[in-house]
Amino acid sequence: LAKAVPQTAALYPYVPGKPIEVLLREKGLSRAVKLASNENPYGPSPKAVRAMQQAAAGVHLYPDGDAGALKRALADFHMVEEERIIVGNGSNEVLELLIRTFAGVGDEVVYSQRGFIVYALAAQAAGATGVAVAEADGLSHDLDAMLQAVNERTRVVCIANPNNPTGTLHGVAALQSFLDALPRDLLVIIDEAYYEFVATELGDTVALLQHPGLVISRTFSKAYGLAGCRIGYAIADAGIAALVNRFRAPFNVSLLAQAAAVAALDDGEWMAARVADTLAERDRMERALQALGLSEGHSHGNFVLLRHGDSAQIAAALENRGIIPRPLAPYGMAEYLRISVGTAEENDLFLAALTEIVDGMA
Ligand code: PMP
Repeated sequence: LAKAVPQTAALYPYVPGKPIEVLLREKGLSRAVKLASNENPYGPSPKAVRAMQQAAAGVHLYPDGDAGALKRALADFHMVEEERIIVGNGSNEVLELLIRTFAGVGDEVVYSQRGFIVYALAAQAAGATGVAVAEADGLSHDLDAMLQAVNERTRVVCIANPNNPTGTLHGVAALQSFLDALPRDLLVIIDEAYYEFVATELGDTVALLQHPGLVISRTFSKAYGLAGCRIGYAIADAGIAALVNRFRAPFNVSLLAQAAAVAALDDGEWMAARVADTLAERDRMERALQALGLSEGHSHGNFVLLRHGDSAQIAAALENRGIIPRPLAPYGMAEYLRISVGTAEENDLFLAALTEIVDGMA
């Protein structure tokens, strides 16, 4: 143990949302609702479930190590060459692989202070120096300040759009100007884990890929409802994809995940309908939070932000009532809780519990 790499011992661990079983055990409850991990409460397309059932007969064999069918499906979907697709065990793995491939000791990785936390963790794990840039207005990435932070040691710049946990979004024109101002040989990651929730509003971002160092990552975990399968991908320059593939562990995407993702991608209708349900519920939750005086900004993701001076007390009281929120203290946002959008019934349970708690605090 004493021989562990010192940087590893100093790593700040990723703290996931509390599992339902843990809360049930802790509180002796019979039912709990988890609104802590921005999961899709409706689940995946039934076609994806059937594809997994069929693929299950073959799980004694290794999957296609190159995920050929999935890469071809993604390439067709995005109208890019197959060589430009990187697949991973969740987009998390893709992000980590990209950062590890391009940054090491002495290099810098630039991201927003309240940007998705995995950029900081991956930079740290790679031995690189993370450069956290403060937000412009408290929540939104400050693209100008991020540009200022780039220097000759910078190897990677990461933007989450929309961002988790702040829910903020930059338009395509702002992203294009940002890219135009950056050195062309710098790796820039635009993390679009929540893209499907803003597709109508944001429009196509794949055209931004004319910038040679740009990589766009997406996931099947959110809008497609396949978080448990762990499957994400990125579109990059073919040279970048080839480099990342050298670092990638063999068979990093399971057979079931590959089958599910191909089928899910093919059922865009199901996905779009669930996204529409989620957006309607999200806006209803934001209005309810506003009425309680707890709303903060507008979220473009499948989650909302709640702000209160004593958010820890609210979080504990929600948990006592069987609702699991996500405290944002690890992001330096101690006054905030992030609440994922659930089904209408789950959201009703949350809002009823919250109203009761706030009334009790008055
Ligand atoms: N990027 C962002 C901004 C996220 O919020 C998440 C999930 N919380 C991910 C990437 C990673 O998701 P996954 O590994 O499930 O694809």
